[in-house]
Order: sequence, then C-alpha cells, then structure tokens
Amino acid sequence: MELPRAGLLSDLDLEAVVDDTYRYVETYRGHGRQASYIPALEKVDPNKLAIAVVLGDGRTALAGDAEEPFSIQSISKVFTLSLVLDRVGAILWNRVGREPSGSPFNSIVQLEAEKGKPRNPLINAGAIVVSDQLIGADTADAAIAELVSFLRVRAEDASIAIDDGVAMSESQAGALNRSLAHFVAAFGNLDNPVEEVLSVYFRQCAIAMSCRQLARASLYLAFDGVDPITGETVTTPDHCRRILSLMLTCGHYDNSGDFAFRIGLPGKSGVGGGILTIAPGVGAIAVWSPGLNQAGTSLAGAVALERMVEATGWSVFA
Ligand code: GLN
Repeated sequence: MELPRAGLLSDLDLEAVVDDTYRYVETYRGHGRQASYIPALEKVDPNKLAIAVVLGDGRTALAGDAEEPFSIQSISKVFTLSLVLDRVGAILWNRVGREPSGSPFNSIVQLEAEKGKPRNPLINAGAIVVSDQLIGADTADAAIAELVSFLRVRAEDASIAIDDGVAMSESQAGALNRSLAHFVAAFGNLDNPVEEVLSVYFRQCAIAMSCRQLARASLYLAFDGVDPITGETVTTPDHCRRILSLMLTCGHYDNSGDFAFRIGLPGKSGVGGGILTIAPGVGAIAVWSPGLNQAGTSLAGAVALERMVEATGWSVFA
C-alpha cells in the first residue's frame, strides 16, 4: 500500500499503517523461542501479538493484544537510565561506559578485562550499576517505588505494577545476574549491597506494561525530553539525546547493528518479547510477541517494526 512519508504526518492514516503491519506480521505469530531461563516467562502464550503507536499529537493506534500487560524486562533499563541521568548526570559515565558490547546481555567476559566497569547501561551488568545509582543513599523499596510511580505518571495510568511472580522467578533463576553484580561489586563499583541492588533490578524487569502504556510512557523521548501531550519537561534535551544514542547502538546487545540496519530507530528489546522504539519528532512504537531471536529480540516484533518503518519512512536514516 502507498503511504505518506514522515513529512506528511498530518495526512498519515495511522490506523491503516498499524492494520497493514499487523496483518503482515500475523504470519510470524508464534515464531522464535520464548525465554526459558526465567520460568515464569515461558508460561506466556506464544501467540500473543501486539502493536501500539502513539504520536506527538496524541493520536494512538492499536492492534492485537496492545492493551494486555506483559513483562517489560530489559525495556525497563531505558527508564532507570533516564531517572539516574537526571539524578547524577555525567558522573554516571565514571561507573558505566557507552560502547556497544557486541556480547549477549548477560555476558561476564568483558567485565574482568575492564575492571568491573560495564560497557554500557543497557546490558545487564550496566543496568545493575544504574539500579545501584537509583537506590543512591535511599532504600531499594524507595527506588523501585520511584520507578513505578514515574511510569504511572508518564503513561497516565495508575494500574501499572510489578508482577511479583515474575520477580520471584527471576530471583530464583538469578545466578548469572548475581555473578555479574558480585563481579562489579568486587571492583568497588556498587555503593549498595548486592542483594539490595538485585532486588531493584529483578523487580524493574518484572514490571508489567501493555504496548499502549509503554508507547505513551516513553513519548517524551521522541520530543527532546518534553511530554508533547502534557507539556511537562521530563528530562533535558541532552539526556534525551544520550539515551536515544545508547538505544540505537546498544539497545539489542549483539543484535544492535542488525536492528539499526533493518529498522533504523533507537530501540530497546526485552526477553518478555517487547520492543520499544522511538521515532524522534514523530512518536513512540511498542510491539510485543514472545518468540525471540538468538539475541533475545522479539522475532515477529522486529519484522513488524521493519514493515512499519518501510511504510512510513520513520527511520532516523531515512
Ligand atoms: N531480566 C532479564 C535478565 O536479567 C532481562 C534480560 C533482557 O530482557 N534482555 O536476564
């Protein structure tokens, strides 16, 4: 189908784009492999499929299971980074780098050579350092409460909550994340006790949100840190730019290059099968399908985004 490109946003039939994308991606429904290392995630229906797009003027289009909450997993790392950058600023970069790792999300190999300073804030080790900074001098419970309340305000939806079953499952299956945290701590790169930090990390990953809530909550990232609907300043343009560049270069671990090549938008995947992408100046897109590729990115979700970007020209490289 012929669709207007980004320059003609007001003429865009958003419903038609989302419907077309959904119909196209339905043949991929159930493809890929669900994350099995967190037992609770394996219980999710593999046939779930959802798309939500929210534009700067509030126009919203949904398809499939877009109102159903799912485990956001590593997508949470974008929001903890946003909060921590606002709290500590550039000092964060003494603790964590901003270079793609080219390694799986839970890899420990680079940590030894690089003396406990994780490559970037979007791999697990880096996100664990960010969670530690989110606790700061306060408690783990206060940090997680701050995050959940941030998401509720941003999504204009007070129903957002942590799935305690998933959090428990993650903690029970958390040997590798514990190893990463202890390794970082051994180099003096955590201020708080490992279990405190992990209790934030596991709970942030276990937050359940729908595609609609995710797209709405992250809209400020498409508009230089200002929520275009409420007019509120959420973060600075500088922090927003930094978050987007990290999403583009590191948002999908060792699949980040391929994602940038195919989709060309800053994005963040989670092993729950969600992908959040930001089209700067346009809006936010969230997709969900639990089957993953080898790097832990939703297989059908990436196909949907590829289709949508082809139709709309929303790639940052278009
Ligand atoms: N909670 C998951 C983990 O720590 C997050 C990984 C992901 O979504 N890529 O392993």
